Amino acid sequence: MTKTAIYPGSFDPPTRGHLDLIERASTLFDHLIVGVGVNTTKTPFISNEDRVAALTELVEPFPNVTVETFEGLLVTFARSRDCRILVRGLRAVTDFDYEFRVALANRQLAPEIETAFLLAREEYSFLASSVVREVAMLGGDLSHFVPPVVEKLILAQLSP
Ligand code: ADP
Repeated sequence: MTKTAIYPGSFDPPTRGHLDLIERASTLFDHLIVGVGVNTTKTPFISNEDRVAALTELVEPFPNVTVETFEGLLVTFARSRDCRILVRGLRAVTDFDYEFRVALANRQLAPEIETAFLLAREEYSFLASSVVREVAMLGGDLSHFVPPVVEKLILAQLSP
């Protein structure tokens, strides 16, 4: 049986921390779907199309990783892909409370689906998309935080 896992998130923008998690999770499952959550009521920093395009380029080195968008309930998306494993990252204790509640809610909704947590690498444990957005708005160097393809996207977006 093929073990498919979904790594869901906003990826707004994708960071080096996300990429590290994708690389590590790709070795644990037969197929990893990076699920880009699309929220129709909020305007993202980076458009859905650009996030998907950047992630698709970034996962090219990993043949068992694909990128898809989803709208609405994650467990509905997971069921539609015959997936029973959700992967999330834990950076610090502060992530735990939120992740724990979301995982329990998902379990209530879909008891057959498990959430697996991978610990962030130490050097990325401070790294969040919100930090990248803030540094970008303030004109700081993004190269330590995001891969070049994402940096280009952000700079293109910020230039008038
Ligand atoms: P969401 O809005 O769903 O939290 P994010 O894109 O912020 O989406 O994060 C998606 C997942 O990636 C979360 O599980 C988050 O904890 C994890 N993550 C975010 N940044 C990092 C990082 N630097 N290292 C490891 N995991 C991370």
